[in-house]
Amino acid sequence: MINTGKCPKCEKILQNAHIEPIELKQGFNQATWNGAAISCPWCKTILSASIDPLAIKADIVNEIKKLLGR
Ligand SMILES: [Zn+2]
Repeated sequence: MINTGKCPKCEKILQNAHIEPIELKQGFNQATWNGAAISCPWCKTILSASIDPLAIKADIVNEIKKLLGR
């Protein structure tokens, strides 16, 4: 596979990207969610940020366990 996607800032072709945890807030003193930010490994520009799918999965499993009384 030959990667062709470029970072919008430094314009290097990315073979991989960094992921780091980020806290998502709706506002001051509001609920927070676990998020993940994906950034360029060269210049650290954030390419994307979103809810962390693994944290959502863990939350759903815990909710189901609670509903089942375990
Ligand atoms: Zn970059």
